Amino acid sequence: MSGTRYKAPPSVRTPLEKDPEIEEALIKAGFDPNLCMQCGTCTASCLSGRWTAMRTREIMRKAAFGDESVLSDPDIWLCTTCYACYDRCPRDLKVTDAIIVLRNIASERGFIADKHRKTVDILHKTGHAVPINDKIKAIRKELGLPEIPPTAFAYPEEVRKMAQMLFILPPKHEDEEDTQ
Ligand code: SF4
Ligand code: SF4
Repeated sequence: MSGTRYKAPPSVRTPLEKDPEIEEALIKAGFDPNLCMQCGTCTASCLSGRWTAMRTREIMRKAAFGDESVLSDPDIWLCTTCYACYDRCPRDLKVTDAIIVLRNIASERGFIADKHRKTVDILHKTGHAVPINDKIKAIRKELGLPEIPPTAFAYPEEVRKMAQMLFILPPKHEDEEDTQ
């Protein structure tokens, strides 16, 4: 055969960075990448997507192709785990669980937003995700309550023991952007 050879545009020719760990973890979670038909029912069901740029179908597409850029996609953190997509997927794919798996792998590789790191740090230090501050202490005092409530805040030694049992976050990935 002679003549000019067809050259696909770069977007078609560029191979995706496939990651076998992602595929294996997704299948284990109940999301077989070969079964997603990109119907978009998950996107249409997504409450988070109504208020943000998150598009569940796009996340699942990247995941289905084993595209590791999905791990640094901030949209995976916008899912509220409401399970609407999970209930409605016509292929019965466990979409929400798949997103949780993606978050776990992202965290292990250091793709964690600074705000999430801070929350874990506060949890380690106080036993609560929301710290108590001087303003709250003053309001409690005004109400006749002890400044420190009888929760984990009052038992720093126990919190220290608990913190030793909690996981330690991996260092930030070099490609992860500051999200302060
Ligand atoms: S609803 Fe299910 S099959 Fe349809 S795009 Fe979403 S994950 Fe894929
Ligand atoms: S579980 Fe997450 S992705 Fe699915 S519909 Fe709810 S918010 Fe959207």
